[in-house]
Amino acid sequence: MKLELTTPVSALTRVGKTTAGRLKRLDIQTVNDLIFYYPTRWQDLSLISEIGRLQPTDLATVKGKIQLIESRRSHFRKTNLTEALIADKSGSIKVIWFNQPYLSKYLLPGDEVYLSGKVDFDRYNLQFVNPVYEKSSRDTTHTARIVPIYSLTSSITQKQLRFLIKTALSLMPAINEYLPKQIIKENQLMDLSLALKQIHFPSDNNRLHEAITRLKFDELFLFQLQIISQKAELNALNAEPIAFNEIKTKEFVDNLPFKLTNDQRKVAWQIISDLGKKHPMNRLLEGEVGSGKTVVAAMAIYNTVLSAKQCALIAPTEILAGQHYQSVKNLLKNTGFKIGLFSRSQRLLEDKKATKAEMLKNINSGKIDIVIGTHALIQEDVIFKDLGLVIVDEQHRFGVKQRQALRLKSGNKLTMPHLLSMTATPIPRTLALTLYGDLDLSLIRELPKERKKVITKIVEPNKRTAAYDFIAQQIKTGRQAFVICPLIDPSDKLNVKAVTDEYEKLKRDIFPEYKISLLHGKLRGEDKEKIMSDFSAGKTDILVATSVIEVGVDIPNASVMLIEGAERFGLAQLYQFRGRVGRSVYQSYCFLFAQTQTQKTKDRLQALASAKDGFELAEFDLKFRGPGEIYGTAQSGFPEFKIAQLTDANLISLAQKSAQKIIEQSPDLLLFPELKERVKKIIIQTHLE
Ligand code: ADP
Ligand code: MG
Repeated sequence: MKLELTTPVSALTRVGKTTAGRLKRLDIQTVNDLIFYYPTRWQDLSLISEIGRLQPTDLATVKGKIQLIESRRSHFRKTNLTEALIADKSGSIKVIWFNQPYLSKYLLPGDEVYLSGKVDFDRYNLQFVNPVYEKSSRDTTHTARIVPIYSLTSSITQKQLRFLIKTALSLMPAINEYLPKQIIKENQLMDLSLALKQIHFPSDNNRLHEAITRLKFDELFLFQLQIISQKAELNALNAEPIAFNEIKTKEFVDNLPFKLTNDQRKVAWQIISDLGKKHPMNRLLEGEVGSGKTVVAAMAIYNTVLSAKQCALIAPTEILAGQHYQSVKNLLKNTGFKIGLFSRSQRLLEDKKATKAEMLKNINSGKIDIVIGTHALIQEDVIFKDLGLVIVDEQHRFGVKQRQALRLKSGNKLTMPHLLSMTATPIPRTLALTLYGDLDLSLIRELPKERKKVITKIVEPNKRTAAYDFIAQQIKTGRQAFVICPLIDPSDKLNVKAVTDEYEKLKRDIFPEYKISLLHGKLRGEDKEKIMSDFSAGKTDILVATSVIEVGVDIPNASVMLIEGAERFGLAQLYQFRGRVGRSVYQSYCFLFAQTQTQKTKDRLQALASAKDGFELAEFDLKFRGPGEIYGTAQSGFPEFKIAQLTDANLISLAQKSAQKIIEQSPDLLLFPELKERVKKIIIQTHLE
């Protein structure tokens, strides 16, 4: 049989409907998917031990002849037992398998086999229990080699998947090398089809590492290529410049109830200069939690509307959109600008409820100057009259697709709106520059002067009452507190039960004399909004919440953040939670409760307690956890690398240099047709998602 990369897995022997269904759950549908389903780790079973020299051990591999083999039912345990004796020149050893009755038909006396498994004591003698077995042939799959281990969630077994991948690899057509020769040579990369074979069934450790490097490089290189060409594409687009109204901006700043920090001034200037250009701004504003990004955004909005264009501010949650609506309205209160709120369940036009149709009409006619909302703003059929600036809060990256959508919504099809992303999730600068190389970066590291560092304590279980007493004290002096509950039961997707139980307990047993409210994702948008505005207005003392509270919420009067099951949250997330307090002059506190007390848990929580700032914490997180999950990749739109890691700093930089070189030589990739073809595929994929 000859396979194509597009051949469905069901064409392979041993793949029936059931197996095909299970493979599908692993996202494996074609031969191509099989081949690119990389192992997550490898077990080195290549060292063959002499049977006579075996010691009780974790893992050993032997090669020997089967002397006897027989299966029988074991009556008292109701199991089937297969027993065998296998020998090599140095000795023999007993082998037991449970519940594999067919084995005595498959393995016969005289067969030469490899066994890999744990060597145990059976009262007097050594024995193998349930070892992996394989008839000795020149090329083994499961034993006597470096064996691939895949991450499996459905009921496919390692053995099955190895077999299928091996089949696919042996029948597959040659995979075209698409990397330009010079890149392969300069970076000393292994050939692609060899790397694909070696990653699954390595001949030795060196080859394995070369294969890993090659496949990581591919991901990073293609990613960098995309980034560089996106940047070029963007530079080729036009935007309408937004004039800087110096007098009014100065007035605005003078009227603020506080003095801007130097960093705020610096980044505001960077943004305002960008807005004045004929190409669309594409800037990421990264700033510590509470560093005051909103007011900077408001300055950009102010100038945009002063030059008679519209603005959209997009927030990740309805709560946050509601809050931005309040803050922006407040910051721009004397301007006469018309501000609207638009999310799936809340629509306000100058504080009055409005229907969707009214909103759409007023956005389209240009009557609304500033629309604040959730992603519903780009999903629904909102068309602006003349959209000049889009601000996206708490997101690192605004995808190509979304940007395309904006262009269609901007009303003025010949130009792109300017784009500002804002995030409080700190990314080490060097990393940000490589991963977000298509964005210009502005940093606010400095917090307003009067801010005090949040005192963070990991609370031992027996100190719980003391922590509650402390909260009561704080409330008595006029402050407010948050209590965050983790997701405990995965079937309870929105965590409604856990948080409700906690709320009941606190209300009834712990703080009966205070006003407590409950916030979770299942509540209707309006209810959430009401709960938040009551808390914001100081009508409630304690807010018990799930992680819906995570980003951006600004309640300056809150001074205590208590987090239950803190070990269940990522560091970046905990950092965000803690950022909900310490947002004013009051000394604030963060109490971390952990249910498990492993050293790892302690180290992580300790890092949160002691890191100087978010950037230091991010560095720690990067070292400690490695890549991938760190920055809430799902929401940031960070590409899911299968094998490359954010810690591969060296490779990232090589890939970046190579990509730059290629684009310099051939911006449209016409000189590198195979590569162009490959890139096109990726672009099609991302557009289909
Ligand atoms: P973030 O950067 O986390 O989004 P916000 O923009 O919500 O932070 O600002 C946090 C709080 O700090 C707000 O209450 C805001 O009014 C206040 N704030 C912003 N800038 C300053 C400043 N320069 N001095 C004092 N307070 C400030
Ligand atoms: Mg914010």
